[in-house]
Amino acid sequence: MSTYTVINPATATAVKDVALADLATTDATIAKANKAFETWRLVNPGDRAKLLRNFARVVDEHLEELAQLEVLNSGHTIGNARWEAGNVRDCLNYYSAAPERLFGRQIPVPNGIDITFKEPLGVIGIIVPWNFPMPIAGWGFAPALAAGNTVVLKPAELTPLTAIRLGELALVAGIPEGVFNVIPGKGSIVGERFVTNPIVRKIVFTGSTTVGKGIMRGCADQVKRLTLELGGKSANVIFADADIERAAAGAPGSVFDNAGQDCCARSRILVQRSVLDSFMEKFEVAVKKFRVESPELETAEMGPLISAGQLERVREYVPAGTEIAFTGSMPTGPGFWMAPTVLLAKSTSDRAYREEIFGPVVSVIAFEDEADAIRLANDSEYGLSGSIWTRDLAKGVRVSRGIEAGNLSVNSNSSVRYWTPFGGYKQSGLGRELGPDALDAFTETKNVFFDTNN
Ligand code: NAD
Repeated sequence: MSTYTVINPATATAVKDVALADLATTDATIAKANKAFETWRLVNPGDRAKLLRNFARVVDEHLEELAQLEVLNSGHTIGNARWEAGNVRDCLNYYSAAPERLFGRQIPVPNGIDITFKEPLGVIGIIVPWNFPMPIAGWGFAPALAAGNTVVLKPAELTPLTAIRLGELALVAGIPEGVFNVIPGKGSIVGERFVTNPIVRKIVFTGSTTVGKGIMRGCADQVKRLTLELGGKSANVIFADADIERAAAGAPGSVFDNAGQDCCARSRILVQRSVLDSFMEKFEVAVKKFRVESPELETAEMGPLISAGQLERVREYVPAGTEIAFTGSMPTGPGFWMAPTVLLAKSTSDRAYREEIFGPVVSVIAFEDEADAIRLANDSEYGLSGSIWTRDLAKGVRVSRGIEAGNLSVNSNSSVRYWTPFGGYKQSGLGRELGPDALDAFTETKNVFFDTNN
């Protein structure tokens, strides 16, 4: 069995070797999950709810441990990492209310009774990227388990540690063996096997658009159910009538949080031309204040990038000679550090303006009026997230309805809550996670007619 050495991105030092599953182990784990499904689906709703609440409680009791593990493995700031572990707990608590509420419908029909049932799918394969290892795992496994499915979950090669620990904590909480299985391994082996093994009835994939497209093609062979959460190039649209001070103060966090390795990063800032200079002045002050430092520090607002490879990929977007508007700071010494970098886009065809960079680089561009802002925001193959800043609420409504994206906020940069739906338009994804409807993505609707004539 091969192994992968986990590296601490803040110090570039080895943390631990993790065994990577091969095909045989993957198949055996999928078979185990399938066996567990026979009984898990029959656990009575109140008991399944109780087990999920237990799981949430055990996660909460280990919140600090999980957060520290994420700092070590992923270089997330300790503040973010605590939020991420708390998000797993909250997701579990939220969906623990679902088992007793998986309602069907009774639909009026002649000569009988018609009832719909929400039935679990079976084994769900969840494939997680490295940027938010805990929340993205939880968004899949919490509703999947609540609906009566069993789960095989593959963390990203770079960031397996918190997922492995969550797998152990599930057992501590009394979730039966085989119901929630974590399989560290390569995408090309474990991930692809989730797609090709017919026992896996649904894939929940979060990651790059390129890999997502391949998975979608693979799922077609078995008409396998699929949820995709893919890339983004979201717009932060700032109108002249906005509170420019607030918009500028919030802009660094909206793109440089998690070192820009966030599918919701507002990596294009669209500013109405008449306030461009005043915005840039305030934005520069905010970027220079943004604390890029050791992620263990309570004051850290940004840590390192995830790996040497990612740092190199991101740097390619800012080759020598690039005109840089300004940068923030970063620590010296080992680790995969890059300072927040602000570019003024020369044209909408600039590579840095168009492509998802997944690093701390943002492009600013001016727009003329409302129609121009919407046109620019929509001029992207992606449509995941975005912000709109204006004091004119009617304009806020019009523009938020005009932008083709799944998660928008007006006069705010917050787009993720476990109780509201999350997902992308266009090539940012397929389907929605979180919120009250997530259970639909983990159940089939069965319609049964009972003839009452005899
Ligand atoms: P990635 O696509 O390289 O990998 C994601 C996961 O897929 C990993 O676990 C990887 O091992 C696995 N994988 C790779 N090849 C596979 C294959 N052929 N078959 C099955 N699985 C395979 O992405 P990444 O670099 O880990 O993550 C960054 C990307 O994730 C960015 O593009 C980002 O926008 C996206 N993302 C999207 C969301 C969202 O909710 N929309 C959230 C976070 C990240």
